[in-house]
Amino acid sequence: MTDIRMNEEKHYYADAYLQNLEAQIKEVKPSGKTCWLRFDKTIFYPGGGGQSADTGFLDDLPLLEIKEENGHLWHKAASSIVWKEGQMVTLRLDWPRRYYNMQQHTGQHLLSRVLESFDLKTVSVHLGEDYTMIEVEGPYPNEQRLLQIEQEANKQLRRAIPVVTHEISRSEIKRFPLRKPPGAWQRLRVVEIKDFDYSACGGTHVKQTAEIGYIKWLGTEKIRGHARIKWLIGKKADEYIGASFATMQAVKAELQCEPAQFTERITALKSDLKTFRKAADVYKRSHLRWRAAELYNACKNDKAYIVAGLREEETAYLGDLAKILVKEHEQTAFLFTKDRFCLAAPENSPLDTKEFLDAYRETLGLKGGGPPGFVQGAVSNPDEKLIAGCMKVAMQNEQ
Ligand SMILES: [Zn+2]
Repeated sequence: MTDIRMNEEKHYYADAYLQNLEAQIKEVKPSGKTCWLRFDKTIFYPGGGGQSADTGFLDDLPLLEIKEENGHLWHKAASSIVWKEGQMVTLRLDWPRRYYNMQQHTGQHLLSRVLESFDLKTVSVHLGEDYTMIEVEGPYPNEQRLLQIEQEANKQLRRAIPVVTHEISRSEIKRFPLRKPPGAWQRLRVVEIKDFDYSACGGTHVKQTAEIGYIKWLGTEKIRGHARIKWLIGKKADEYIGASFATMQAVKAELQCEPAQFTERITALKSDLKTFRKAADVYKRSHLRWRAAELYNACKNDKAYIVAGLREEETAYLGDLAKILVKEHEQTAFLFTKDRFCLAAPENSPLDTKEFLDAYRETLGLKGGGPPGFVQGAVSNPDEKLIAGCMKVAMQNEQ
């Protein structure tokens, strides 16, 4: 989008800060429940060069889409009112969105220049809604280097360097030390951050760099040997700082200390947690052994096998309890709650757990699996008597 040939008066180039404009409809193309409109002039940027298209209103109706076709800009609107050629319409820009795009785009130019001074050449850029991504080639930058780059970018933008544009013909290109050679074009638009950076660009920009506000490095990903660096620029950086402050306040209240003590406090809490977890684990293991013994003692048959329905809150421990019954009491055990079961058997048990599962899958409504000697899963409508009956048969059959 560096070729600037167009028929409309592109007011977003003449004055990127123009938010409203009276324009006349030159052509109307109905399309279903919508209409494509061409005006004598427009303030809506159609997108390109990585910058997204503007949104806004045509009188009181939202601008649904804007596209460029054969050098003309077409604006899509709902056809709930009748649009006529010659009619005057007020074009209104979604200004906060556009202004962020201007901050972001100018910020990206400035960043690409600063990155280059750190031997990082911009390969591609993505001007996203939430962050700006700049892919670079060169020595992979570590965190310290990126924080230096961030600092340098902010130092440069605070100089409030004027941003100017030049519309030039092909013969004039040698006058400008462009970072990247432009593609096919007739007339070219060069965006200059005065004596600092020159880019062929068809986007919209702020008029001096201090308006970029702030640039914040967010993170880096390594893709095919390139670094993809994520940045927050302008409004997004402000929002991030605001959100970070709110988070900091919330954490301060939770930890009851100043940010400088956060790390120390969290380390102490993690160490406490480790101690408590260890103690809880010891208690849990001793409790489970006691519970397994209780199940063993309560077993009314000849203790050749155990079938027991457990309480709902014991669901998570079915496997642990069954393993203890196998290991410490040498029992074949079928434990269940209202919808889960676990069947475990010692090596010398006459019952094969997998065969049991296959044989009684339907009768007992079992679903699941597991390694030899241990199966678990879901059970529908478990009936203790029925399960005990199946276990008895299985234990005898195998003997
Ligand atoms: Zn640009």
